[in-house]
Amino acid sequence: MLKKIGLVLLVMLVLLLVLPAIIVKSCSGKILPDVKVDPYEVSVWNHKTQELTTMPLGEYLGGVVAAEMPVQFHLEALKAQAVVARTYTIAKMRANGKGGCDRHPEADICTDHTHCQAWTSKEDAVANWPFFRQRSYWRKIIQAVSETQDQVITYQGKLIDAVYHSTCGGSTENSEEVWSNQVSYLRSVQCEFCSSSPRYTETVQLSVARVAEKLGVSTAELNINVLERTASGRIIKVNTGKEIIRGLEFRSRLGLRSSKVSWLQEETDYSFTTVGYGHAVGMCQYGADGMARQGYTVLEIVDKYYTGVQVTTVQIGE
Ligand SMILES: [Zn+2]
Ligand SMILES: [Zn+2]
Repeated sequence: MLKKIGLVLLVMLVLLLVLPAIIVKSCSGKILPDVKVDPYEVSVWNHKTQELTTMPLGEYLGGVVAAEMPVQFHLEALKAQAVVARTYTIAKMRANGKGGCDRHPEADICTDHTHCQAWTSKEDAVANWPFFRQRSYWRKIIQAVSETQDQVITYQGKLIDAVYHSTCGGSTENSEEVWSNQVSYLRSVQCEFCSSSPRYTETVQLSVARVAEKLGVSTAELNINVLERTASGRIIKVNTGKEIIRGLEFRSRLGLRSSKVSWLQEETDYSFTTVGYGHAVGMCQYGADGMARQGYTVLEIVDKYYTGVQVTTVQIGE
């Protein structure tokens, strides 16, 4: 009798452990529907698999939205991301007479987020979500792409360079103050919507020796002197003690989240405090979510972060 109970318990235990794994395996990814809109083919260099693949634009855009924004964001924010990603992609597509990804000339676009746009396969995206949310989350991604089908952002009739970033930290920046070219629709705007971003501010400690090494100067030469800041406090130009570099380069060498940075120098350490995350030009993603949660629509979000633009429908090759 006791043996029987033991056996039953053992079987139940095995079922308890094995069944969920079987269900998860059979339900994730494959049986979820694909994005059906934007059927134009796009060639994508996949950094993860180091392969060139071709897929319908809609499917690619679903993977960008899933990779570039937390799926928990408001639907209108995900829709804004879909429109921005579609614009960014079509503006690179060779089928549209453009040059493709300049690091992978055989591809329209690559999945390196520091170069083109982040992208994830449906299977990888879904595997990162709680099991009981996978279906509804994936449907939300499809909805974001489908409800904005063919929608792109133009300025004076031309597709814009739809750049975006995680968190601006209070205001976005004029393009020429971060890079060098002045772009009419990439203007600094106040953003009161990203303050709840978990990436709003960060403090990092670096030893003086480490700072010198990262900036490519000796500790004797090291003498950081900011020459110019934007109105919102982002570094435009800074002297390291050896050379004058742009704020973006300063941020990149030190591995900081933002060039809106201040610091305290103690005897052996620097303590850098950054505000925001990313270059701060164009759409602020956490700001887009903040706006959506306050009832703003995709069009109002696009209109806020890209000055004087229009949202219109596009056909490839037009
Ligand atoms: Zn690229
Ligand atoms: Zn913002």
